[in-house]
Amino acid sequence: MLGSARKRDKDGSAGTEDTDDDPKRDNRKRALTLCILALPLLVGFYILVLYLSNPRSPGKELRIDEFTTLLRQGRIQDATILETDNRMVGTYDEGQYWVAYSGGNETIFARLTSALEDAGVAYSVKQQPLKNLVTPVSLLLPALIIIDGLFILFLAFGRGSDGFSAFSRSRGKRMETGEAKITFSDVAGVDEAIEELVEIRDYLSNPDRFLAMGASVPKGILLTGPPGCGKTLLARGLAGESEVPFFSISGSDFVEIFVGVGAARIRDFFKVAKAAAPCIVFIDELDAVGRGRSTHSMGGTDEREATLNQLLVEMDGFESGIGVVVLAATNRPDILDSALMRPGRFDRRVAVERPDVNGRKGILGIHTRGKPLADNVNIDEVAKRTAGFSGADLANVVNEAALLAARRGATIIEQSHFSEAIERLVAGPERKTRILSPQDRHRIAFHESGHAIVATALSGTDRVGKLSIVARGHGGGFTWWVSEGDQTSITRAQLLDRIAALLGGRAAEELVTGELSTGATGDLDAAIQLARRMVTEFGMGTRLGAFTAQSLQNAALKEGLMTQAFSERIASEIDAEVQQVLADSAERARAVLVEQRSVLEALATALMEAETLEGEVLDALLLPVGGAQPVTAAVSS
Ligand code: ADP
Ligand code: MG
Ligand code: ZN
Repeated sequence: MLGSARKRDKDGSAGTEDTDDDPKRDNRKRALTLCILALPLLVGFYILVLYLSNPRSPGKELRIDEFTTLLRQGRIQDATILETDNRMVGTYDEGQYWVAYSGGNETIFARLTSALEDAGVAYSVKQQPLKNLVTPVSLLLPALIIIDGLFILFLAFGRGSDGFSAFSRSRGKRMETGEAKITFSDVAGVDEAIEELVEIRDYLSNPDRFLAMGASVPKGILLTGPPGCGKTLLARGLAGESEVPFFSISGSDFVEIFVGVGAARIRDFFKVAKAAAPCIVFIDELDAVGRGRSTHSMGGTDEREATLNQLLVEMDGFESGIGVVVLAATNRPDILDSALMRPGRFDRRVAVERPDVNGRKGILGIHTRGKPLADNVNIDEVAKRTAGFSGADLANVVNEAALLAARRGATIIEQSHFSEAIERLVAGPERKTRILSPQDRHRIAFHESGHAIVATALSGTDRVGKLSIVARGHGGGFTWWVSEGDQTSITRAQLLDRIAALLGGRAAEELVTGELSTGATGDLDAAIQLARRMVTEFGMGTRLGAFTAQSLQNAALKEGLMTQAFSERIASEIDAEVQQVLADSAERARAVLVEQRSVLEALATALMEAETLEGEVLDALLLPVGGAQPVTAAVSS
């Protein structure tokens, strides 16, 4: 994992360059060195000045009354008045003396001189012209030291490149064409999105041809879809494919605590981009700035609003003919401000969805390129077993398989490495070292068998592909469901079957041991989630009907409201519906297990013996329960 992280870092810097040019950065470094060198010099100088300004005189210190007494007694021989220091030095019959008198007091000064004159003592007044400089310098130096210190902090830690505008400089990156290229051939399973982007690429390489046709090309394209499905990758592909400059920035770079800084960054970023037109501007994670504006202002809203407004202004500020295309990506299109979707802004939306089986095959192909694969590796099979995986998950599967192969000392990656990689990613690594007590073994075997039997008996769930009582991750054992195809939509009956299958483990434990254990909490969580989504998201509740609380809530979130968007009555209806679904499903699971009690016993016994059951052995054991229609892959502990 370390290796891949480092590689990404390297890619990132090889292909990109700061918009700040190099001489500027050099100047900044030089100024920093200068400031750092100046600091000890200034401090040293200040100490010297303090030392000088602090008057020291040899001999005995006399109070002013002692001095006048001595003067009257005629024991003072001579005197020198140091004007700036407000002191007088001289000799008397016992040696040297010095007297301090309070500064700036003309009368004391006058009295002293007249007393000296009266006593007939020779005296002189020293102007101390250099000392007159000391006071202003000693005041100036601390200020200089502080300023120097601030400069050092600023130059060393400031984000921008020069002066105080540094805070507002945009942190956009310009990707250089022709280096460490990613092209559309590195992206699979999202053909529609690539088609759109190819159009943009062609337009930008020859805008005149499009303009001559009177075709209007979109100014803004929004890539939407779940994380890890290749949005950022597609943008990098476009950067690699097109011949025009490509500027990339992340929405979170615009989010600042200081009001106005984010807006200034947007302005800067677009200024640079417009100067380079025709070009592509890519804003990743747009939701960081593009979240809906609210009427209820919460902390930081003002700044975000100012930033978003600036973005809207910039997008309106150029004509579509100028050749700046704004590409943006987000995982949360539902919470974007609706103003962003108006014509002339992000008017084209491209969905980047989780890949289907063919897409997964393509993505696995891309990521296994150049890796040593055994002849027995069946990419089709891997693609089939990874329904619901995103591109990033698939990249992870390949990486994990390679790591496993290396760890086992193999020189090529085998199919078994892929299988294990998938299982590890879904359920966590096997914990072979954990020793189960006989009771736990018994309980887990029945639990997993319970899942398998309920799933097999109900037609809406997937085929059970593998059972294991070897611990993985946090779970005790696991049941592996395999799917044979992708399903884009699932019916209510199928969802209910799935919830029953999730609760099957718990039901079996209860049936056989008469007890419940903590081992089933994960299943319970998953079942509750699914039931809740049925009611609040899919509108499948019996009492609420075609009503989805989730969309109300999303709408509220867009408005910036943090409160519940539906009434208390609806909230309690939802709770009641969810409870009903769970109770019914638990009962269905129990009924199946009671009916199939003998199969349950046989399966659990076999599982305790073999620890892992799969393939024909498993199919044979489940045969009496009846065949199942496959849906999608899922795992349950
Ligand atoms: P997103 O921006 O949609 O969250 P990314 O583009 O950052 O996802 O994808 C993360 C990684 O996953 C990519 O760098 C790539 O290795 C892999 N990946 C994701 N989708 C695909 C795809 N469609 N084709 C090939 N690789 C993909
Ligand atoms: Mg991304
Ligand atoms: Zn379970």
